[in-house]
Amino acid sequence: MAKTKEKSQEVNGVKVYTKGGNGKRECGNPDCPHFLSVRTKICACGYEFSSTDNGEDGTETDPIALIGLANKFIEKAGGADKAKKLISALG
Ligand SMILES: [Zn+2]
Repeated sequence: MAKTKEKSQEVNGVKVYTKGGNGKRECGNPDCPHFLSVRTKICACGYEFSSTDNGEDGTETDPIALIGLANKFIEKAGGADKAKKLISALG
């Protein structure tokens, strides 16, 4: 059994994480600091993942949507180099 490095806590009965990583995703609520397991559908803040995130494990993601996400990610990260570093940090 691998130990989980990420700290998790329970908020309103929902397991949330303070850091992103493999199998985690950021809450869609911009005011919410939590990261959630990809299987968690509703965040502690009440944010509900819906149409944009309907793949249970992300295996059936529309490639066009992926490209859009990648572009957004690069934009958010502040450039392709920074995005690459972030991705490599995820493993
Ligand atoms: Zn949230």
